[in-house]
Formats: sequence, structure tokens, C-alpha cells
Amino acid sequence: MTSDTALYPTERLSRVAAAVREAGLDVLLLTPGPDLRYVTGYDAKQLERLTCLAVPADRDPFLLVPALELKAAQASPAGALDLEILSWGETAHPFGMITGALGEVRSTALSDRMWALHVLQFADAFPAATQQLASTVLSPLRMRKSPAEVAALLEAGQAIDRVHAMVPDWLRPGLTERQVGARIAEAILAEGHVQVDFVIVGSGPNAASPHHEVSDRVIADGDVVVVDIGGTMPSGYCSDCTRTYAVGHAPDEFIAYYEVLRRAQEAATLSVRPGVTAQSVDRTAREVIADAGYGEWFIHRTGHGIGLESHEDPYIVEGNTIPLAPGMAFSIEPGIYPGPHGARIEDIVVCADPASDGAGCLRMNNGPRELAIV
Ligand code: ZN
Ligand code: ZN
Ligand code: ZN
Repeated sequence: MTSDTALYPTERLSRVAAAVREAGLDVLLLTPGPDLRYVTGYDAKQLERLTCLAVPADRDPFLLVPALELKAAQASPAGALDLEILSWGETAHPFGMITGALGEVRSTALSDRMWALHVLQFADAFPAATQQLASTVLSPLRMRKSPAEVAALLEAGQAIDRVHAMVPDWLRPGLTERQVGARIAEAILAEGHVQVDFVIVGSGPNAASPHHEVSDRVIADGDVVVVDIGGTMPSGYCSDCTRTYAVGHAPDEFIAYYEVLRRAQEAATLSVRPGVTAQSVDRTAREVIADAGYGEWFIHRTGHGIGLESHEDPYIVEGNTIPLAPGMAFSIEPGIYPGPHGARIEDIVVCADPASDGAGCLRMNNGPRELAIV
């Protein structure tokens, strides 16, 4: 397994401080969530009591935690950083401690997932300061995965591939989506994740609803079933993979568009390489599907970034002109949902300098993509 120090290198904090200065910001303020974990390795609980990493432009960073969280913070990778860890007792005023330590502040950046409870208290604590999202500083860093992060995504991908390998055995007529989903959730944990993030088992007409989760619908012979599953590994990194199965036999019209979908997913994957824009990967998938006459049934973007969050930058969507760069990790998941069934195929890929075989990305998921009749 990838070690904490490789995944959360100690020099990252000073790179982030440099990014805060370059952005012309006075201070970056991170409460528990993926941003805090990315910068410090500390997987802190989000609570009403304030835990906050402050990374000011012109003085040393510090981590303020509730007294009862101090031991956990010190035991986390944050304890190994060149970082002062301060604690506040139950009757102290943590926002006052932060304003006191920072002096005059004209601009703040707050973690994207900070609770409004804390956002508004920071607005009161720094009445003269502007507020912006931390992603303006952190997203360019978080998007480019290090080799250790890519290894963690591959571990996650292999774990979810092992779950998908078991799914055909569980898609039996007579079982409900919920029953199959429960087995999948158990397997997600058994194969090494610490958390189940989502389990979609969309059978029959539910296959045409991309974010359907599970229901008490009984799976029947001739059903198409979209299975989209993912979890979080101990490393903090996420898996996300979709396969579409046909139970017993497949309807003819489904066989026709499934093959279109498979070609679209493959064409989009092969189009990935450094310098290509995110939107052009979306266009590649969309063109194959539209040319075959199914364009109106591809009703979502082609993909989303993944890392410490299962949806993060970069989004693979029309209008996103960001050029892909080595280390960027994202899903390629076109779908066709004409009803009374639908299909999606999803893999996570990481953009990479073209290898000798010409491939401009590494695939984190490698389960079979051909139509599976189970
Ligand atoms: Zn989705
Ligand atoms: Zn998915
Ligand atoms: Zn996805």
C-alpha cells in the first residue's frame, strides 16, 4: 500500500503557501474535508466545533483544533509537518484566536466544502475581507496527481474491478435491486475500501435513469442492469466504475446501441493525451453516439475528475477548455438512455505522456467492456 508520507508529502504545505502568495491572497482557511486532507494528510471530522488550518501569505501556517481533537491531530500526518498545532478549550473563542494570530486580513479563501456555519462566522471575524473559494488556489495542484496518488487511484480501481468481477453471479432473476446492492456494498468494503460512496443498481426501466440508486424492483430475465459503484480507500482516494449487464438475454435494440456506446467510450479514452482539451474528449464520445443517431439520449457530460473526492476538477464537458496534463485523473463514462432501458460504461483514466504504444492515458479500471450477458 502507498505510504502516508508518499501520498501526503511534507513539502506540500510550503507549495500551498507559495500558491497563496502567488494568488495575492492574505490567508487560506481550511476546515475538515478533502482540501485539508490534501494539504496535511489529516482526515479530520467535520464538526460544529472549529478545526481550521490557516495558511497565511506572510507568516507561518498553523492548525487550530478543539482540545478534544488535539491528540488525533498530532497522531495524524499533520503531526509530522513543520506546523504549529494549537488547541482551544470548550469555552474559548476559536475565531477570535484566528483573527488575533493573523492581524489585518483583506482577502480569504475558504475550503469549498466548508459549512455555512463557519463561512458566515469567518465573514463576521474578518468584516473587511473578501471571501473566495480555496479551489482557486488548490484545484490546479490537486488536479495533477503525483505518482503516489496515481498508485492510490490504481489500488482503488483494482479493488472496484474485483467487485465488478463478482457482480454477474449476483444478477439473478428474482432478486431485488436492493438485495444485489447490499451484496455489492459488502464486497466494496471486503475488497479494501473503508467507505461505500454509492451503489447504483438500475434494472429494466431504471437503467434509463443515470442516478437511480436501488429500489425493490425484482430483476427479471431480459433486463438490462446498469451497475455504477464506488468507495473510498484507506488512502483517502476514491473508486468509481460502471458496467452494464444483460440478464439472460439482451433486447436487440439494446445490443445495437451498446456497441455504439462501447466504441464511443473507447474512442474518448484513446483521444486522451496531454494538450487535448477536456471538452474535446467529451466531443469525441458525443460524436460517435450522435453519428449513430443516439445523440439525444446521451444526457450528461462524459466525465468528472476524481481523487480525494469522487467528483472534482477537471470536468470532461463542453465548455471546459482546460488542456489535459499528465497526472490529471477523471472518468470517461458516456451513456445512452433511450428507455425502456439504458447503458453506461465508465472507467477512470489518468492522463500520461504517451507511452511507446502511443497511449496518452493509463487506465485505472480494466474489467471487460464487451456486452456481458449473465
Ligand atoms: Zn454520476
Ligand atoms: Zn460512476
Ligand atoms: Zn463517475
